Amino acid sequence: MKRQLSLTGIPVSPGVAVGRAVLWVSREDSSPKRTLEPEEIEPEIERFRRAAESAAHEIESTARHVKESLGAEYAGIFQAHALFLKDRTFLGPIERRIVHEKVNAEWAVAETTADLSARFRSLPDEDFADRGADIDDVARILKKHLGGEEYSRLRMEDLAGEAIVLVADELTPSDAVRIPRDRVVGFVTERGGRTSHAAILARSFGIPAVVGVPQLLAEIGEGDRIVVDGRDGLVWREPSESVVALFRERRDQEARHEKSLKERSHDGITRTHDGAEVFVRANIELLNEVSDVLEYGADGVGLFRSEFLYLSKEGDEFPSEEEQSLAYRQVLEGLAPRPVVIRTYDLGGKKGARHLVGSDEVNPVLGLRGVRLCFARPEMFSTQLRALLAAAASGNLRLLVPMVSGVEEIRRVRILLKKAREDVLERGIAVPDDIPLGAMIEVPSAAMTADLLAPEVDFLSLGTNDLIQYTLAVDRANETVSDLFRPTHPAVLRLVARVADAARIAEKPLSVCGEMAADPALVLLFLGLGIREFSMGPRTVPAVKEFLRGVSTRDAERVARAALSMSTADEVSSFLAQELRDLATVGA
Ligand code: PEP
Ligand code: MG
Repeated sequence: MKRQLSLTGIPVSPGVAVGRAVLWVSREDSSPKRTLEPEEIEPEIERFRRAAESAAHEIESTARHVKESLGAEYAGIFQAHALFLKDRTFLGPIERRIVHEKVNAEWAVAETTADLSARFRSLPDEDFADRGADIDDVARILKKHLGGEEYSRLRMEDLAGEAIVLVADELTPSDAVRIPRDRVVGFVTERGGRTSHAAILARSFGIPAVVGVPQLLAEIGEGDRIVVDGRDGLVWREPSESVVALFRERRDQEARHEKSLKERSHDGITRTHDGAEVFVRANIELLNEVSDVLEYGADGVGLFRSEFLYLSKEGDEFPSEEEQSLAYRQVLEGLAPRPVVIRTYDLGGKKGARHLVGSDEVNPVLGLRGVRLCFARPEMFSTQLRALLAAAASGNLRLLVPMVSGVEEIRRVRILLKKAREDVLERGIAVPDDIPLGAMIEVPSAAMTADLLAPEVDFLSLGTNDLIQYTLAVDRANETVSDLFRPTHPAVLRLVARVADAARIAEKPLSVCGEMAADPALVLLFLGLGIREFSMGPRTVPAVKEFLRGVSTRDAERVARAALSMSTADEVSSFLAQELRDLATVGA
Protein backbone atom coordinates (compact mmCIF):
# COMPACT_ATOMS: atom_id res chain seq x y z
CA MET A 1 0.00 0.00 0.00
CA LYS A 2 1.25 3.49 -0.86
CA ARG A 3 2.33 5.89 1.83
CA GLN A 4 0.44 9.02 2.71
CA LEU A 5 1.76 11.95 0.69
CA SER A 6 0.73 15.55 0.21
CA LEU A 7 1.39 17.65 -2.89
CA THR A 8 0.89 21.36 -3.41
CA GLY A 9 -0.48 23.27 -6.39
CA ILE A 10 -2.48 26.36 -7.29
CA PRO A 11 -5.95 26.42 -5.72
CA VAL A 12 -8.47 27.44 -8.38
CA SER A 13 -11.83 26.38 -6.98
CA PRO A 14 -12.48 26.20 -3.24
CA GLY A 15 -13.93 23.36 -1.19
CA VAL A 16 -12.88 19.87 -0.09
CA ALA A 17 -13.30 16.72 -2.21
CA VAL A 18 -12.67 13.16 -1.03
CA GLY A 19 -12.69 10.32 -3.56
CA ARG A 20 -10.80 7.75 -5.62
CA ALA A 21 -8.45 8.84 -8.38
CA VAL A 22 -9.45 8.16 -11.95
CA LEU A 23 -6.62 8.98 -14.28
CA TRP A 24 -7.89 11.04 -17.13
CA VAL A 25 -4.99 10.56 -19.49
CA SER A 26 -4.72 10.54 -23.22
CA ARG A 27 -5.15 7.10 -24.73
CA GLU A 28 -1.81 5.51 -25.67
CA ASP A 29 -1.01 7.29 -28.86
CA SER A 30 -1.87 4.87 -31.61
CA SER A 31 -0.33 6.81 -34.46
CA PRO A 32 2.43 4.58 -35.84
CA LYS A 33 4.22 6.05 -38.79
CA ARG A 34 3.57 4.46 -42.17
CA THR A 35 5.27 5.49 -45.40
CA LEU A 36 2.91 5.86 -48.33
CA GLU A 37 3.39 4.76 -51.91
CA PRO A 38 2.95 7.68 -54.39
CA GLU A 39 -0.49 6.40 -55.50
CA GLU A 40 -1.68 6.26 -51.87
CA ILE A 41 -1.16 9.97 -51.25
CA GLU A 42 -4.29 11.34 -52.88
CA PRO A 43 -6.66 8.81 -51.24
CA GLU A 44 -4.95 9.58 -47.92
CA ILE A 45 -5.69 13.29 -48.33
CA GLU A 46 -9.30 12.39 -49.11
CA ARG A 47 -9.49 10.16 -46.01
CA PHE A 48 -8.06 12.98 -43.90
CA ARG A 49 -10.59 15.49 -45.24
CA ARG A 50 -13.50 13.13 -44.53
CA ALA A 51 -12.22 12.62 -40.98
CA ALA A 52 -11.89 16.40 -40.46
CA GLU A 53 -15.46 16.85 -41.68
CA SER A 54 -16.97 14.19 -39.45
CA ALA A 55 -14.88 15.37 -36.47
CA ALA A 56 -16.26 18.88 -37.06
CA HIS A 57 -19.80 17.44 -37.08
CA GLU A 58 -19.18 15.67 -33.80
CA ILE A 59 -17.82 18.83 -32.17
CA GLU A 60 -20.70 20.91 -33.52
CA SER A 61 -23.16 18.46 -32.03
CA THR A 62 -21.29 18.67 -28.69
CA ALA A 63 -21.54 22.46 -28.98
CA ARG A 64 -25.31 22.25 -29.47
CA HIS A 65 -25.64 19.91 -26.50
CA VAL A 66 -23.49 22.18 -24.34
CA LYS A 67 -25.44 25.24 -25.43
CA GLU A 68 -28.68 23.63 -24.29
CA SER A 69 -27.36 22.35 -21.00
CA LEU A 70 -24.85 25.04 -19.99
CA GLY A 71 -25.46 28.10 -22.14
CA ALA A 72 -23.98 29.76 -25.19
CA GLU A 73 -20.80 30.97 -23.46
CA TYR A 74 -19.51 27.44 -22.86
CA ALA A 75 -20.61 26.25 -26.29
CA GLY A 76 -18.33 28.90 -27.81
CA ILE A 77 -15.27 26.85 -26.84
CA PHE A 78 -16.50 23.93 -28.97
CA GLN A 79 -17.65 26.10 -31.81
CA ALA A 80 -14.09 27.44 -31.90
CA HIS A 81 -12.77 23.85 -32.02
CA ALA A 82 -15.06 23.05 -34.93
CA LEU A 83 -13.75 26.11 -36.75
CA PHE A 84 -10.18 24.79 -36.50
CA LEU A 85 -11.34 21.82 -38.55
CA LYS A 86 -12.54 24.09 -41.33
CA ASP A 87 -9.58 26.45 -41.25
CA ARG A 88 -6.98 26.00 -43.99
CA THR A 89 -4.24 27.43 -41.77
CA PHE A 90 -4.84 24.45 -39.48
CA LEU A 91 -5.59 21.77 -42.12
CA GLY A 92 -3.06 22.91 -44.75
CA PRO A 93 0.15 22.07 -42.85
CA ILE A 94 -1.20 18.57 -42.06
CA GLU A 95 -2.02 17.91 -45.72
CA ARG A 96 1.37 19.27 -46.82
CA ARG A 97 3.08 16.88 -44.41
CA ILE A 98 1.14 13.94 -45.90
CA VAL A 99 2.22 14.99 -49.39
CA HIS A 100 5.83 16.02 -48.78
CA GLU A 101 6.80 13.41 -46.20
CA LYS A 102 4.58 10.68 -47.73
CA VAL A 103 3.18 9.70 -44.34
CA ASN A 104 -0.17 8.44 -43.10
CA ALA A 105 -2.73 11.00 -41.90
CA GLU A 106 -2.61 9.86 -38.22
CA TRP A 107 1.11 10.51 -38.12
CA ALA A 108 0.80 13.85 -39.92
CA VAL A 109 -1.89 14.98 -37.47
CA ALA A 110 0.10 13.88 -34.43
CA GLU A 111 3.33 15.55 -35.55
CA THR A 112 1.83 18.78 -36.84
CA THR A 113 -0.48 19.41 -33.90
CA ALA A 114 2.24 18.47 -31.38
CA ASP A 115 4.51 21.13 -32.94
CA LEU A 116 1.77 23.74 -32.91
CA SER A 117 0.63 22.95 -29.39
CA ALA A 118 4.24 23.06 -28.11
CA ARG A 119 4.74 26.46 -29.75
CA PHE A 120 1.64 27.86 -28.01
CA ARG A 121 2.65 26.35 -24.68
CA SER A 122 6.12 27.88 -24.87
CA LEU A 123 4.65 31.40 -24.97
CA PRO A 124 4.74 33.17 -21.62
CA ASP A 125 0.99 33.80 -21.42
CA GLU A 126 -1.49 31.41 -19.80
CA ASP A 127 -4.04 32.16 -22.49
CA PHE A 128 -1.69 30.73 -25.12
CA ALA A 129 -1.12 27.61 -23.03
CA ASP A 130 -4.89 27.18 -23.07
CA ARG A 131 -4.85 27.41 -26.88
CA GLY A 132 -2.28 24.57 -26.79
CA ALA A 133 -4.80 22.50 -24.84
CA ASP A 134 -7.49 23.35 -27.41
CA ILE A 135 -5.26 22.08 -30.21
CA ASP A 136 -4.57 18.81 -28.34
CA ASP A 137 -8.30 18.38 -27.89
CA VAL A 138 -9.04 18.86 -31.58
CA ALA A 139 -6.17 16.52 -32.51
CA ARG A 140 -7.52 13.73 -30.30
CA ILE A 141 -10.98 13.90 -31.83
CA LEU A 142 -9.48 14.06 -35.29
CA LYS A 143 -7.40 10.93 -34.61
CA LYS A 144 -10.48 9.14 -33.33
CA HIS A 145 -12.28 9.88 -36.59
CA LEU A 146 -9.32 8.71 -38.61
CA GLY A 147 -9.18 5.45 -36.70
CA GLY A 148 -12.94 5.05 -36.37
CA GLU A 149 -12.41 3.80 -32.82
CA GLU A 150 -14.72 4.38 -29.92
CA TYR A 151 -13.01 7.02 -27.85
CA SER A 152 -13.34 6.83 -24.14
CA ARG A 153 -10.80 7.47 -21.47
CA LEU A 154 -12.93 7.32 -18.42
CA ARG A 155 -12.53 4.10 -16.50
CA MET A 156 -14.91 4.39 -13.63
CA GLU A 157 -16.70 1.04 -13.83
CA ASP A 158 -14.49 -0.52 -11.14
CA LEU A 159 -15.33 2.29 -8.79
CA ALA A 160 -19.09 1.92 -8.90
CA GLY A 161 -20.75 4.03 -6.26
CA GLU A 162 -17.57 5.81 -5.13
CA ALA A 163 -16.94 9.51 -5.46
CA ILE A 164 -14.33 10.26 -8.11
CA VAL A 165 -11.46 12.72 -8.27
CA LEU A 166 -10.19 13.20 -11.80
CA VAL A 167 -6.42 13.31 -12.03
CA ALA A 168 -5.06 14.62 -15.30
CA ASP A 169 -2.07 16.09 -16.99
CA GLU A 170 -4.41 18.85 -18.08
CA LEU A 171 -8.16 19.02 -18.55
CA THR A 172 -9.27 20.29 -21.91
CA PRO A 173 -12.55 22.19 -22.24
CA SER A 174 -14.29 19.19 -23.80
CA ASP A 175 -13.09 16.99 -20.92
CA ALA A 176 -14.29 19.52 -18.39
CA VAL A 177 -17.84 19.83 -19.71
CA ARG A 178 -18.15 16.05 -20.06
CA ILE A 179 -17.29 15.46 -16.41
CA PRO A 180 -20.17 13.44 -14.99
CA ARG A 181 -21.03 15.91 -12.27
CA ASP A 182 -23.05 13.39 -10.28
CA ARG A 183 -19.91 11.32 -9.61
CA VAL A 184 -16.90 13.60 -9.99
CA VAL A 185 -16.35 15.54 -6.78
CA GLY A 186 -13.05 17.22 -7.62
CA PHE A 187 -10.16 17.42 -10.02
CA VAL A 188 -6.43 17.90 -9.97
CA THR A 189 -4.11 18.61 -12.88
CA GLU A 190 -0.37 18.79 -13.38
CA ARG A 191 -0.60 21.75 -15.72
CA GLY A 192 -2.90 24.76 -16.17
CA GLY A 193 -3.50 28.06 -14.44
CA ARG A 194 -6.26 30.08 -12.92
CA THR A 195 -7.49 31.30 -16.30
CA SER A 196 -7.66 27.93 -18.07
CA HIS A 197 -11.12 26.97 -19.30
CA ALA A 198 -11.16 24.00 -16.95
CA ALA A 199 -10.51 26.23 -13.93
CA ILE A 200 -13.27 28.61 -14.99
CA LEU A 201 -15.70 25.71 -15.41
CA ALA A 202 -14.69 24.20 -12.06
CA ARG A 203 -15.53 27.43 -10.27
CA SER A 204 -18.77 27.69 -12.15
CA PHE A 205 -19.77 24.10 -11.29
CA GLY A 206 -18.58 24.55 -7.69
CA ILE A 207 -16.18 21.56 -8.04
CA PRO A 208 -13.07 21.87 -5.81
CA ALA A 209 -9.96 21.94 -7.98
CA VAL A 210 -6.19 22.33 -7.75
CA VAL A 211 -4.02 22.82 -10.85
CA GLY A 212 -0.30 23.12 -11.55
CA VAL A 213 0.70 20.27 -9.18
CA PRO A 214 4.28 19.24 -10.01
CA GLN A 215 4.91 15.47 -10.17
CA LEU A 216 1.19 14.72 -9.94
CA LEU A 217 1.09 11.90 -12.49
CA ALA A 218 4.33 10.40 -11.16
CA GLU A 219 2.90 10.17 -7.66
CA ILE A 220 -0.81 9.42 -8.08
CA GLY A 221 -2.13 6.15 -9.50
CA GLU A 222 -5.52 4.89 -10.63
CA GLY A 223 -7.76 4.10 -7.67
CA ASP A 224 -5.61 5.90 -5.07
CA ARG A 225 -7.60 7.57 -2.37
CA ILE A 226 -7.40 11.34 -2.76
CA VAL A 227 -8.33 14.44 -0.83
CA VAL A 228 -8.46 17.73 -2.77
CA ASP A 229 -8.25 20.91 -0.75
CA GLY A 230 -9.29 23.60 -3.23
CA ARG A 231 -8.90 26.38 -0.66
CA ASP A 232 -5.23 25.85 0.19
CA GLY A 233 -4.12 24.04 -2.97
CA LEU A 234 -3.29 20.72 -1.27
CA VAL A 235 -3.69 17.21 -2.68
CA TRP A 236 -3.34 14.21 -0.37
CA ARG A 237 -2.62 10.71 -1.64
CA GLU A 238 -3.73 7.79 0.55
CA PRO A 239 -4.45 10.06 3.48
CA SER A 240 -4.70 8.46 6.90
CA GLU A 241 -8.17 8.03 8.37
CA SER A 242 -7.53 10.95 10.69
CA VAL A 243 -6.63 13.27 7.77
CA VAL A 244 -9.77 12.18 5.88
CA ALA A 245 -11.89 12.70 8.99
CA LEU A 246 -10.40 16.16 9.46
CA PHE A 247 -11.15 17.19 5.89
CA ARG A 248 -14.65 15.65 5.96
CA GLU A 249 -15.36 17.66 9.05
CA ARG A 250 -14.00 20.82 7.42
CA ARG A 251 -16.09 20.17 4.31
CA ASP A 252 -19.26 19.73 6.37
CA GLN A 253 -18.46 22.79 8.43
CA GLU A 254 -17.78 24.87 5.32
CA ALA A 255 -21.02 23.68 3.74
CA ARG A 256 -23.03 24.57 6.87
CA HIS A 257 -21.28 27.91 7.21
CA GLU A 258 -21.80 28.73 3.53
CA LYS A 259 -25.48 27.83 3.75
CA SER A 260 -26.11 30.10 6.70
CA LEU A 261 -24.03 32.92 5.17
CA LYS A 262 -26.02 32.56 1.98
CA GLU A 263 -29.30 32.77 3.86
CA ARG A 264 -28.17 35.89 5.70
CA SER A 265 -26.95 37.41 2.45
CA HIS A 266 -30.61 37.92 1.48
CA ASP A 267 -31.44 39.82 4.69
CA GLY A 268 -32.16 43.18 3.08
CA ILE A 269 -29.84 46.16 3.42
CA THR A 270 -26.37 45.41 4.77
CA ARG A 271 -25.15 47.71 7.52
CA THR A 272 -21.92 47.82 9.46
CA HIS A 273 -22.04 47.25 13.21
CA ASP A 274 -22.52 51.00 13.72
CA GLY A 275 -25.21 51.35 11.06
CA ALA A 276 -23.41 52.54 7.90
CA GLU A 277 -25.14 51.28 4.77
CA VAL A 278 -22.89 49.26 2.45
CA PHE A 279 -23.46 47.55 -0.91
CA VAL A 280 -21.93 44.25 -1.92
CA ARG A 281 -22.33 43.49 -5.60
CA ALA A 282 -21.10 40.80 -7.98
CA ASN A 283 -18.57 40.76 -10.82
CA ILE A 284 -19.79 38.61 -13.71
CA GLU A 285 -18.59 37.64 -17.17
CA LEU A 286 -21.23 35.21 -18.46
CA LEU A 287 -24.95 35.68 -18.92
CA ASN A 288 -25.84 32.57 -16.99
CA GLU A 289 -24.15 33.98 -13.90
CA VAL A 290 -27.24 36.16 -13.39
CA SER A 291 -28.76 33.30 -11.37
CA ASP A 292 -25.65 33.24 -9.15
CA VAL A 293 -26.04 36.94 -8.46
CA LEU A 294 -29.54 36.20 -7.13
CA GLU A 295 -28.60 32.98 -5.36
CA TYR A 296 -25.74 34.55 -3.43
CA GLY A 297 -27.76 37.62 -2.49
CA ALA A 298 -25.62 40.26 -4.25
CA ASP A 299 -26.98 43.81 -4.33
CA GLY A 300 -26.83 43.81 -8.12
CA VAL A 301 -23.83 43.68 -10.45
CA GLY A 302 -20.88 45.96 -9.78
CA LEU A 303 -19.01 44.90 -12.91
CA PHE A 304 -20.25 43.04 -15.96
CA ARG A 305 -17.18 42.45 -18.10
CA SER A 306 -19.03 42.87 -21.41
CA GLU A 307 -15.98 41.89 -23.48
CA PHE A 308 -16.79 38.26 -22.66
CA LEU A 309 -19.80 38.53 -24.99
CA TYR A 310 -17.21 38.70 -27.71
CA LEU A 311 -14.49 36.52 -26.16
CA SER A 312 -16.86 33.58 -25.67
CA LYS A 313 -18.09 33.77 -29.23
CA GLU A 314 -16.76 31.72 -32.10
CA GLY A 315 -14.71 33.43 -34.80
CA ASP A 316 -13.69 37.05 -35.00
CA GLU A 317 -17.17 38.47 -35.58
CA PHE A 318 -18.48 40.93 -33.04
CA PRO A 319 -21.91 40.27 -31.59
CA SER A 320 -24.39 42.34 -33.60
CA GLU A 321 -26.22 45.26 -32.04
CA GLU A 322 -29.36 43.10 -31.69
CA GLU A 323 -27.46 40.22 -30.07
CA GLN A 324 -25.80 42.59 -27.63
CA SER A 325 -29.01 44.39 -26.82
CA LEU A 326 -30.73 41.09 -26.11
CA ALA A 327 -27.91 40.04 -23.79
CA TYR A 328 -27.90 43.35 -21.90
CA ARG A 329 -31.70 43.23 -21.61
CA GLN A 330 -31.49 39.70 -20.21
CA VAL A 331 -29.11 40.80 -17.44
CA LEU A 332 -30.99 44.02 -16.67
CA GLU A 333 -34.43 42.39 -16.59
CA GLY A 334 -33.18 39.39 -14.65
CA LEU A 335 -31.82 41.63 -11.90
CA ALA A 336 -34.17 44.64 -11.90
CA PRO A 337 -34.52 46.77 -9.84
CA ARG A 338 -30.98 46.03 -8.67
CA PRO A 339 -28.31 48.17 -10.33
CA VAL A 340 -26.22 46.56 -13.05
CA VAL A 341 -22.93 48.20 -13.95
CA ILE A 342 -22.04 47.21 -17.48
CA ARG A 343 -18.49 48.00 -18.43
CA THR A 344 -17.93 48.81 -22.09
CA TYR A 345 -15.47 46.52 -23.90
CA ASP A 346 -12.12 46.15 -22.21
CA LEU A 347 -10.39 44.33 -25.05
CA GLY A 348 -6.77 44.40 -26.12
CA GLY A 349 -3.91 44.03 -23.64
CA LYS A 350 -3.93 40.37 -22.63
CA LYS A 351 -7.63 39.95 -23.22
CA GLY A 352 -7.36 38.85 -26.81
CA ALA A 353 -8.75 40.50 -29.95
CA ARG A 354 -5.26 40.98 -31.34
CA HIS A 355 -6.71 41.31 -34.84
CA LEU A 356 -8.62 44.39 -33.66
CA VAL A 357 -5.44 46.09 -32.56
CA GLY A 358 -4.12 45.54 -36.04
CA SER A 359 -0.42 45.26 -35.18
CA ASP A 360 1.83 43.09 -33.10
CA GLU A 361 2.33 45.21 -30.02
CA VAL A 362 5.53 44.55 -28.12
CA ASN A 363 3.94 45.76 -24.91
CA PRO A 364 0.18 45.19 -25.28
CA VAL A 365 -0.75 45.92 -21.66
CA LEU A 366 0.53 49.45 -22.25
CA GLY A 367 -0.97 49.54 -25.71
CA LEU A 368 -4.30 49.78 -27.46
CA ARG A 369 -6.56 48.49 -24.70
CA GLY A 370 -9.90 49.32 -23.10
CA VAL A 371 -11.40 52.68 -24.06
CA ARG A 372 -8.40 53.53 -26.27
CA LEU A 373 -9.18 50.54 -28.46
CA CYS A 374 -12.85 51.58 -28.50
CA PHE A 375 -11.86 55.01 -29.85
CA ALA A 376 -9.68 53.34 -32.47
CA ARG A 377 -12.66 51.17 -33.57
CA PRO A 378 -15.50 53.71 -33.52
CA GLU A 379 -18.03 51.46 -35.28
CA MET A 380 -17.49 48.67 -32.74
CA PHE A 381 -17.87 51.14 -29.88
CA SER A 382 -20.92 52.97 -31.27
CA THR A 383 -22.63 49.63 -31.89
CA GLN A 384 -22.08 48.69 -28.27
CA LEU A 385 -23.28 52.06 -27.00
CA ARG A 386 -26.46 51.88 -29.10
CA ALA A 387 -27.11 48.32 -27.88
CA LEU A 388 -26.67 49.42 -24.27
CA LEU A 389 -28.95 52.45 -24.61
CA ALA A 390 -31.61 50.44 -26.43
CA ALA A 391 -31.64 47.93 -23.55
CA ALA A 392 -31.46 50.52 -20.76
CA ALA A 393 -35.21 50.80 -20.14
CA SER A 394 -35.29 47.10 -19.12
CA GLY A 395 -33.65 47.72 -15.76
CA ASN A 396 -31.27 49.79 -13.69
CA LEU A 397 -28.29 50.30 -16.00
CA ARG A 398 -25.06 52.11 -15.13
CA LEU A 399 -22.30 52.46 -17.71
CA LEU A 400 -18.64 52.12 -16.83
CA VAL A 401 -15.64 53.00 -19.00
CA PRO A 402 -12.42 50.95 -18.60
CA MET A 403 -8.79 52.10 -18.76
CA VAL A 404 -9.57 55.77 -18.43
CA SER A 405 -6.34 57.73 -18.08
CA GLY A 406 -7.70 61.29 -17.97
CA VAL A 407 -10.63 63.65 -18.33
CA GLU A 408 -10.48 63.91 -22.17
CA GLU A 409 -11.51 60.28 -22.57
CA ILE A 410 -14.65 60.73 -20.50
CA ARG A 411 -15.59 63.86 -22.46
CA ARG A 412 -15.10 61.96 -25.70
CA VAL A 413 -17.27 59.09 -24.47
CA ARG A 414 -20.02 61.57 -23.56
CA ILE A 415 -20.00 62.94 -27.12
CA LEU A 416 -20.25 59.42 -28.58
CA LEU A 417 -22.98 58.53 -26.11
CA LYS A 418 -25.00 61.59 -27.12
CA LYS A 419 -24.80 60.58 -30.77
CA ALA A 420 -25.72 56.97 -29.96
CA ARG A 421 -28.71 58.20 -27.95
CA GLU A 422 -29.94 60.30 -30.90
CA ASP A 423 -29.62 57.27 -33.20
CA VAL A 424 -31.59 55.04 -30.85
CA LEU A 425 -34.28 57.65 -30.19
CA GLU A 426 -34.65 58.18 -33.93
CA ARG A 427 -35.71 54.57 -34.22
CA GLY A 428 -38.51 55.21 -31.73
CA ILE A 429 -36.86 53.30 -28.86
CA ALA A 430 -37.21 54.90 -25.44
CA VAL A 431 -33.97 55.68 -23.63
CA PRO A 432 -33.97 56.78 -19.97
CA ASP A 433 -32.54 60.28 -19.46
CA ASP A 434 -30.40 59.63 -16.46
CA ILE A 435 -28.16 56.64 -17.17
CA PRO A 436 -25.18 57.12 -14.84
CA LEU A 437 -21.75 57.12 -16.47
CA GLY A 438 -18.71 56.05 -14.46
CA ALA A 439 -14.95 55.82 -14.93
CA MET A 440 -12.79 52.93 -13.88
CA ILE A 441 -9.84 54.12 -11.86
CA GLU A 442 -7.21 51.55 -12.72
CA VAL A 443 -4.45 53.61 -14.30
CA PRO A 444 -2.23 55.67 -11.97
CA SER A 445 -2.82 58.86 -14.01
CA ALA A 446 -6.58 58.50 -13.42
CA ALA A 447 -6.01 57.92 -9.69
CA MET A 448 -3.72 60.99 -9.50
CA THR A 449 -6.35 63.12 -11.24
CA ALA A 450 -9.42 61.59 -9.58
CA ASP A 451 -10.30 65.09 -8.27
CA LEU A 452 -10.57 66.26 -11.90
CA LEU A 453 -12.38 63.17 -13.10
CA ALA A 454 -14.93 62.90 -10.29
CA PRO A 455 -16.92 66.04 -11.26
CA GLU A 456 -17.15 64.78 -14.86
CA VAL A 457 -18.75 61.43 -14.03
CA ASP A 458 -21.62 60.03 -11.98
CA PHE A 459 -19.54 57.42 -10.15
CA LEU A 460 -16.04 55.97 -9.89
CA SER A 461 -14.96 52.34 -9.71
CA LEU A 462 -11.53 51.27 -8.52
CA GLY A 463 -10.08 48.45 -10.63
CA THR A 464 -7.38 47.39 -8.25
CA ASN A 465 -6.08 44.50 -10.38
CA ASP A 466 -4.79 46.89 -13.00
CA LEU A 467 -4.11 49.75 -10.61
CA ILE A 468 -1.62 47.54 -8.74
CA GLN A 469 -0.12 46.23 -11.98
CA TYR A 470 0.46 49.71 -13.41
CA THR A 471 1.51 51.36 -10.16
CA LEU A 472 4.04 48.74 -9.12
CA ALA A 473 5.12 47.80 -12.68
CA VAL A 474 4.25 44.17 -11.96
CA ASP A 475 2.51 42.12 -14.67
CA ARG A 476 -0.58 40.72 -12.99
CA ALA A 477 -0.39 37.51 -15.06
CA ASN A 478 3.30 36.74 -14.66
CA GLU A 479 3.96 34.22 -11.89
CA THR A 480 7.68 35.01 -11.78
CA VAL A 481 6.88 38.41 -10.26
CA SER A 482 3.68 37.41 -8.47
CA ASP A 483 5.24 37.95 -5.04
CA LEU A 484 5.79 41.61 -5.98
CA PHE A 485 2.08 42.09 -6.68
CA ARG A 486 1.33 43.70 -3.31
CA PRO A 487 -2.11 45.22 -2.72
CA THR A 488 -0.87 46.67 0.57
CA HIS A 489 2.08 48.53 -0.96
CA PRO A 490 2.06 52.11 0.42
CA ALA A 491 1.91 53.50 -3.13
CA VAL A 492 -1.31 51.59 -3.82
CA LEU A 493 -2.84 52.63 -0.51
CA ARG A 494 -2.00 56.28 -1.10
CA LEU A 495 -3.61 56.21 -4.53
CA VAL A 496 -6.73 54.50 -3.19
CA ALA A 497 -6.95 57.08 -0.37
CA ARG A 498 -6.56 59.88 -2.88
CA VAL A 499 -9.39 58.52 -5.02
CA ALA A 500 -11.61 58.05 -1.94
CA ASP A 501 -11.00 61.69 -0.95
CA ALA A 502 -11.82 62.93 -4.45
CA ALA A 503 -15.06 60.92 -4.54
CA ARG A 504 -16.11 62.20 -1.11
CA ILE A 505 -15.41 65.84 -1.96
CA ALA A 506 -17.28 65.58 -5.29
CA GLU A 507 -20.06 63.58 -3.55
CA LYS A 508 -19.79 60.80 -6.11
CA PRO A 509 -20.22 57.11 -5.24
CA LEU A 510 -17.03 55.05 -5.33
CA SER A 511 -16.89 51.27 -5.52
CA VAL A 512 -14.02 48.75 -5.56
CA CYS A 513 -14.36 45.97 -8.13
CA GLY A 514 -10.85 44.48 -8.28
CA GLU A 515 -9.90 41.29 -6.45
CA MET A 516 -8.91 43.39 -3.40
CA ALA A 517 -12.65 43.73 -2.65
CA ALA A 518 -12.84 40.00 -1.81
CA ASP A 519 -10.24 40.19 0.96
CA PRO A 520 -11.70 41.11 4.41
CA ALA A 521 -8.48 42.78 5.58
CA LEU A 522 -8.57 45.14 2.62
CA VAL A 523 -12.33 45.63 2.86
CA LEU A 524 -11.73 46.90 6.40
CA LEU A 525 -9.16 49.34 5.07
CA PHE A 526 -11.45 50.54 2.27
CA LEU A 527 -14.29 51.01 4.71
CA GLY A 528 -11.99 53.15 6.82
CA LEU A 529 -11.23 55.29 3.77
CA GLY A 530 -14.95 55.96 3.34
CA ILE A 531 -15.69 53.42 0.59
CA ARG A 532 -19.16 51.85 0.90
CA GLU A 533 -19.53 49.82 -2.30
CA PHE A 534 -17.74 46.58 -3.12
CA SER A 535 -17.96 44.12 -5.99
CA MET A 536 -16.49 40.61 -6.35
CA GLY A 537 -17.17 37.06 -7.68
CA PRO A 538 -20.77 36.08 -6.72
CA ARG A 539 -19.75 33.20 -4.43
CA THR A 540 -17.70 35.53 -2.18
CA VAL A 541 -20.55 38.02 -1.67
CA PRO A 542 -22.12 36.37 1.42
CA ALA A 543 -18.81 36.22 3.32
CA VAL A 544 -17.98 39.88 2.61
CA LYS A 545 -21.47 40.97 3.70
CA GLU A 546 -21.09 38.98 6.90
CA PHE A 547 -17.71 40.55 7.57
CA LEU A 548 -19.02 44.08 7.03
CA ARG A 549 -21.92 43.49 9.42
CA GLY A 550 -19.42 42.71 12.18
CA VAL A 551 -17.18 45.79 11.91
CA SER A 552 -17.67 49.45 12.72
CA THR A 553 -16.63 52.39 10.58
CA ARG A 554 -14.88 53.94 13.60
CA ASP A 555 -12.58 50.92 13.96
CA ALA A 556 -12.06 50.86 10.22
CA GLU A 557 -11.06 54.54 10.17
CA ARG A 558 -8.49 53.96 12.92
CA VAL A 559 -7.10 50.97 10.96
CA ALA A 560 -6.92 52.96 7.71
CA ARG A 561 -5.12 55.87 9.38
CA ALA A 562 -2.55 53.57 10.92
CA ALA A 563 -2.04 51.57 7.70
CA LEU A 564 -1.45 54.75 5.70
CA SER A 565 1.35 55.79 8.00
CA MET A 566 3.33 52.57 7.44
CA SER A 567 6.36 52.22 5.17
CA THR A 568 6.14 48.74 3.68
CA ALA A 569 3.58 46.28 2.30
CA ASP A 570 4.69 43.67 4.85
CA GLU A 571 4.12 46.04 7.72
CA VAL A 572 0.61 46.85 6.49
CA SER A 573 -0.25 43.20 5.84
CA SER A 574 0.84 42.01 9.29
CA PHE A 575 -0.93 44.93 10.92
CA LEU A 576 -4.19 44.17 9.08
CA ALA A 577 -3.91 40.46 9.89
CA GLN A 578 -3.50 41.30 13.58
CA GLU A 579 -6.49 43.67 13.45
CA LEU A 580 -8.64 40.92 11.94
CA ARG A 581 -7.58 38.50 14.69
CA ASP A 582 -8.40 41.11 17.33
CA LEU A 583 -11.79 41.81 15.76
CA ALA A 584 -12.55 38.08 15.66
CA THR A 585 -11.65 37.77 19.36
CA VAL A 586 -13.79 40.74 20.34
CA GLY A 587 -16.66 39.48 18.16
CA ALA A 588 -16.42 35.90 19.50
C1 PEP B 1 -9.39 45.52 -12.43
O1 PEP B 1 -8.50 45.84 -13.21
O2 PEP B 1 -9.27 45.55 -11.18
C2 PEP B 1 -10.71 45.09 -12.93
C3 PEP B 1 -11.73 44.88 -12.13
O3 PEP B 1 -10.84 44.87 -14.28
P1 PEP B 1 -10.25 43.57 -15.02
O4 PEP B 1 -9.85 42.58 -13.95
O5 PEP B 1 -11.34 43.08 -15.89
O6 PEP B 1 -9.09 44.13 -15.75
MG1 MG C 1 -8.93 46.23 -15.26
